[in-house]
Amino acid sequence: MTKGTYWLEHAWLGTTVEPGVAVDVADGRISAVRTGVPTPPPGAEVLRGLTLPGLANAHSHAFHRALRGTVQVGSGTFWTWREVMYSVADHLTPDTYHDLARAVYAEMALAGITCVGEFHYVHHAPGGTPYADPNAMGEALVAAAAEAGIRITLLDTCYLSSGFGEPPNHHQLRFSDGSAEAWATRCAVLKERDHARIGAAIHSVRAVPAGQLATVAGWAEERRAPLHVHLSEQTAENDACLAAHGRTPTRLLADHGVLGPRTTGVHNTHLTDEDIALLGGSGTGTCMCPTTERDLADGIGPAVALQRAGSPLSLGSDSHAVIDLLEEARAMELNERLRTRTRGHWTAAALLRAATADGHAALGWDEAGTIEAGALADLTTVALDSVRTAGPLPRLGAETAVFAATAADVRHTVVGGRHVVRDGAHTLVPDVPHALARAVEALRA
Ligand SMILES: [Zn+2]
Repeated sequence: MTKGTYWLEHAWLGTTVEPGVAVDVADGRISAVRTGVPTPPPGAEVLRGLTLPGLANAHSHAFHRALRGTVQVGSGTFWTWREVMYSVADHLTPDTYHDLARAVYAEMALAGITCVGEFHYVHHAPGGTPYADPNAMGEALVAAAAEAGIRITLLDTCYLSSGFGEPPNHHQLRFSDGSAEAWATRCAVLKERDHARIGAAIHSVRAVPAGQLATVAGWAEERRAPLHVHLSEQTAENDACLAAHGRTPTRLLADHGVLGPRTTGVHNTHLTDEDIALLGGSGTGTCMCPTTERDLADGIGPAVALQRAGSPLSLGSDSHAVIDLLEEARAMELNERLRTRTRGHWTAAALLRAATADGHAALGWDEAGTIEAGALADLTTVALDSVRTAGPLPRLGAETAVFAATAADVRHTVVGGRHVVRDGAHTLVPDVPHALARAVEALRA
């Protein structure tokens, strides 16, 4: 709807769950929030269950969805997994990538995700030849998000080298623009749209030579755009960086002006105390991807210490081993419980803030992620009457959503006032499982 009212049976308003909340919407934004409305006003759309602000998936590589299941056979490490991932990347074209991303973003909408941060680095044709439109791949992703009904921040990624002082390997030729200057020139052509914002990414300190980091940081700074970077996911990256530069990846980024409040480090797994102080002190965010980090045997990052030092937390499904932001949120807390053998490092509300307001802020959508007047009308409703969620008092809805619900309990997803998922069905992509199966099959063929 462009103008109208949603009636929320229960709503999480940032700290407490309120019963009976009317949300007026005009031009895609919330114009008023009224509590103490026990029954739906005439003409209102009813959202039964617990309504949260829309969820932000702050770190995604859409094509990794094609690896689901297939990479669970056999053993190995992050690095052997990467070889399988590259073999999928080799087969992507603008058309096959569009079809896959449309289906993956539709899966995200069904999981209550209203905004995705797409960390995008497959830019060129195999061998590194640019497409006729050098941004054909990025444009395919922006179009896919529009068709799936969600917002996107396209984090266009600079990727120039396979390691410190090493040229890209044959898989990575597709990722490289040759120099950060050429990357910046290509990205400058990308246009923002109502549903799409453009940000920057440094793939990692392995993939962008130190002397070119400032070019990417400067591009983002000029546009006040978000800047993301994979950081210390693997100890091998730290070892190679220390050998090449005599400092940790975090220190290297700090020394080249990459850190700051619009920057997000993704993973931030293997850090020194000085790294944590640098990230926190500069206000650099941390995007944890717990389901991927456990899937790839990365390790558990120091999220508690990072947040305490001043680093805001966001969450991402990254490799899409599963797409479930509620699972990401609880996994961050549960990892910490296993490590420390104590409970309650974050409240359910704090975990939901990472999945909503702080996730949106990390993607450059400061006006999304809360249910209040002026915010974008992005809402996610979790059923409180499913086999997983029935029983607890509704006022414990946030705890129930975070610690017991799954993506399958998402009943409604509203983006900019538009009902994208209604009663568990996508309103724009008629058969999402079929779309996923077809798109993945096309990459196998
Ligand atoms: Zn990633």
